[in-house]
Amino acid sequence: MHVPLLDLKAQYAAIRSEIRPVLDEVCESQYFIMGPKVEAFERNAAAYCGAREAIGLSSGTDAILAALMALDVGPGDAVLTTPYTFFATAGSIARLGAVPLFADIDPATFNMDPRAARKVLENPPARFRDRRVKVILPVHLYGQSADMRLFLDLAAEFKCRIVEDACQAIGAEYPADGGARKVGAMGDIGCFSFFPSKNLGCFGDGGMAVTSDAALAARLRVIRAHGSSKKYFHEIVGGNFRLDALQAAVLDVKLRHLDAWHAARRANAAFYDSAFKGTPVRAPKMAYAGCNLRQPHIYNQYVVRVPGRDRVRESLVKAGIGCEVYYPLSLHMQECFRYLEYRLGDFPESERAALETLALPIYPELTDPMKQAVVDALLAGMR
Ligand SMILES: *Cc1c(COP(=O)(O)O)cnc(C)c1O
Repeated sequence: MHVPLLDLKAQYAAIRSEIRPVLDEVCESQYFIMGPKVEAFERNAAAYCGAREAIGLSSGTDAILAALMALDVGPGDAVLTTPYTFFATAGSIARLGAVPLFADIDPATFNMDPRAARKVLENPPARFRDRRVKVILPVHLYGQSADMRLFLDLAAEFKCRIVEDACQAIGAEYPADGGARKVGAMGDIGCFSFFPSKNLGCFGDGGMAVTSDAALAARLRVIRAHGSSKKYFHEIVGGNFRLDALQAAVLDVKLRHLDAWHAARRANAAFYDSAFKGTPVRAPKMAYAGCNLRQPHIYNQYVVRVPGRDRVRESLVKAGIGCEVYYPLSLHMQECFRYLEYRLGDFPESERAALETLALPIYPELTDPMKQAVVDALLAGMR
């Protein structure tokens, strides 16, 4: 049986009748830039995330860039983050002339380890000692929150701001104050991506920042439009970071289905979890399972560790099972960051994860026979 890593056609078939009319509406209005569709989506998305304001942006990458610009990150600054993430997290830091200061991950969750982060803050590498760590940038990798309480404590102690890279985790919850907080709404600014493969994906590139700080929200709106709040008068240098009305219209429809899709992914994960019990496959850990959360994980990716990963991956591909390695090379070892002078061995857990992890199909429309085919092919490939 052929099982793709992701099948977006299955999702579109289910919501086509809701999507087509809103696309027509935008086309008939010819209102493509900002306007009512973007505003409506921003209101609904802010409420969904539990933040006061949402600012629609052109991509997740631009959301991180705009968030760091809003916090005045630039040359002379450093931003503490994880080396085990998609490139955009650190790329955005470097584009502003700041240094990505890395801290290793917790091997159980793949998220930045707050204890490792503390060590870096207390004792940064000598070559970065004159940099001011202005922002801590945790990533909620694969759809599960980083351990935010500890990062918020660190930010208070070391006088940093917090930008959350929530690009893979919209809707994921974290235990707080006897209840739950959603990712993106715990730090100063939260960043989201609507790249098609995310749980909430649009029909191209799209992104969003959320914040409950009115001044930061206003600044993000100005940065999004070339640093101008009054047309042709520019207070600061911004960019063209706007979310399209067509994308906002699609996203507003999809937002209504999001929690059901998250639940279907969690059910798929539970199927795999029980199938891999007692096998050499190490299933991902749900860190906040016993915390009474509705959405402890949204499984943008279901990532296992397997011995002999590259060989197993080849056998899955041969069997027609889609799979992928997120990510094969830690960011501290990327060629473009050679000037940062990190070395192999600096972040052993990230380096190990890059060698052992494999993402399996987890999208909501998978059937039981498809999941069983993934399990069978994976176990066969390890023999
Ligand atoms: C997808 C993603 C981004 C970038 O989002 P784009 O919309 O593709 O620019 C940033 N960080 C993480 C962790 C991501 O998964």
